[in-house]
Amino acid sequence: MKIAENVFGYRTAIVNIAYIAGLGSTKKDWVLVDTGVPYSAPFILKNTKKLFNEKKPLAIILTHAHFDHIGALQTLVHEWNVPVYIHEKEIPYLESKKKYPPPTPFKEKGMMSFLSPFYPRDGIDFHSRIKPISSEHSLAFLEGWEWIYTPGHTNGHISLFREKDRLLLAGDALITVKQESLFAVLTQEKEIHGPPAYFTPDVETSIISIKKLLALDPQILYTGHGVPMYGKEIREGISDLLYQHSEEAVVKGG
Ligand SMILES: [Zn+2]
Ligand SMILES: [Zn+2]
Repeated sequence: MKIAENVFGYRTAIVNIAYIAGLGSTKKDWVLVDTGVPYSAPFILKNTKKLFNEKKPLAIILTHAHFDHIGALQTLVHEWNVPVYIHEKEIPYLESKKKYPPPTPFKEKGMMSFLSPFYPRDGIDFHSRIKPISSEHSLAFLEGWEWIYTPGHTNGHISLFREKDRLLLAGDALITVKQESLFAVLTQEKEIHGPPAYFTPDVETSIISIKKLLALDPQILYTGHGVPMYGKEIREGISDLLYQHSEEAVVKGG
């Protein structure tokens, strides 16, 4: 699915991955953002071949290391032998040196929340090829793009932003479907929503990250779950989300 010029989306089960093309001096280079759910490698490889023939990517970039975003990582790195860029704070989780906090299924009701304890939480044993993203290490090969630190959903979550057309790849910092509801996941009903609550231990920090993303005034939004959104419905959706959050905070605070 074409999201915008040189940006393509592809959905593996309930999780999106993105391709950024048109890079390098020849404009033929590309990178992959996130690697989908486990067992999705054959589908990703097939789709990739359709888009780029035999051309391998410059790199894989991970927004964060939740299992549903790194599912095909080992296979793809094995296949392509390319570096994997991920925020330095996320690396211990990717390398299984740290575990994500256990999901909190009853924070929000719904089937997906109920199922979340059965989701695998362990990272993968994967050391070679990992390159840290930090304030000192930028993504120089990604001309016209900047990476934005958007913690909250996880400690080292990043988003990607292209100034030219204000395109935002937000990972799970913000999603366009209410992920806790299985109904919404299956139908891909469009609604801007905060990050999946079953895996977002630090809601306050995630709200700060969402405000940071809103300040970029995104005009095209593609997130880790859900469908792409365009134009003013993005700002309206994010503003609604922030308003709902502040209302809840007022109610909780009495
Ligand atoms: Zn996630
Ligand atoms: Zn996710």
